[in-house]
Amino acid sequence: MSKLKLFLLFFLGTALLLQAQTDNGVMRMDEFRNPKKRQMISIPNIEGFQTLKCDFHMHTVFSDGHVWPNVRVQEAWQEGLDAMAITDHIEYTPHKADVLVNHNRAWELAKNAAAENNLVFIKGTEITRNTPPGHFNALFIGDASGYIEDRSGDLDSQAVAKAEEQDAFIFWNHPGWKATSVEGSYEWIDFVGELKKENKLDGIEVFNGFGFHKKALDWAVDNDLTVMGTSDIHNLVAHDYNLGGCVHRSMTLVFAKERTAESIREALDAGRTVAWASKYIAGKEENVRPLVEACVKLGAQFHNKGDRNYYEISNNSDLYFELELESGNGTKSIKLFPRSSQVITAEAGQKSLKYKVLTAFIRSNQNLVVDFVLD
Ligand SMILES: [Zn+2]
Ligand SMILES: [Zn+2]
Repeated sequence: MSKLKLFLLFFLGTALLLQAQTDNGVMRMDEFRNPKKRQMISIPNIEGFQTLKCDFHMHTVFSDGHVWPNVRVQEAWQEGLDAMAITDHIEYTPHKADVLVNHNRAWELAKNAAAENNLVFIKGTEITRNTPPGHFNALFIGDASGYIEDRSGDLDSQAVAKAEEQDAFIFWNHPGWKATSVEGSYEWIDFVGELKKENKLDGIEVFNGFGFHKKALDWAVDNDLTVMGTSDIHNLVAHDYNLGGCVHRSMTLVFAKERTAESIREALDAGRTVAWASKYIAGKEENVRPLVEACVKLGAQFHNKGDRNYYEISNNSDLYFELELESGNGTKSIKLFPRSSQVITAEAGQKSLKYKVLTAFIRSNQNLVVDFVLD
């Protein structure tokens, strides 16, 4: 064997050995992995406040959910939420044969993951009374071990009082849940009226998952309750929602001074929220109007043909808007997809066009009306 052949053999052998040491015979195939990235939900801030994307109603195996608590953190991170609360049922723990009943445990198991992923994590629970009155979520709670598990109707007041004693933020969940099966349950019932009178009720769910509880929006406006939108997710979010593109879970947009738990509490107490689900937003006019005005802008006239002027109208947010002409002479209906614009025309010589925002509710039967000033 020549010296050259010996050298080549040695070189090849070393190379093979080195390769074997590098991958140990295992090739990595990470190309099919989900890339680790957090989606950004683009919704503009309004004057003086940050717009925070929040979901304050979700379940884990510690009540009737199907996932371990840290999975809720992973989902919220990936979907681009700012704040979340796990709100497992106190009175309903169907996995108790497999998972020890402990009303603080989901919080304990998820709080470090939330902190490490820049999520504002708020401690909560769902007080789950029979309907009526139904279910109440309590946020900013303390130790949940002393809450009442007995569902007897005569303990309803005491059960809610447990959260009130801890100065929790309390909202009435999915009021229309049993509208068709329990007569009289989807009304402004005495129990809730009393809670409100005693300053123990702070908010109400208008959007719960895929349901718009329309009467609740009127009750919120008439009784000065904070408007809430939540997923009430039990399964994986990606199982129930067709995520991606412009699909997001149902949530509450909170207008907070800062991105902190304290600021969120202040904003919730002050009622600065808009609920968002599917194509729709709902809330008090004082909150819906600045949000829509921050998202939808009419540009300057860019063209003219005969008596028609041309304008571009844009939506700089991930919200979806459908507008219908209310007064004036111009384009009759406008669909504004997330982060997109449309060309509209208006008859020359007008000062403004008024549009009804069909996807923005300020009462059960009333949409926001916006005025676009023409130049
Ligand atoms: Zn519930
Ligand atoms: Zn729930």
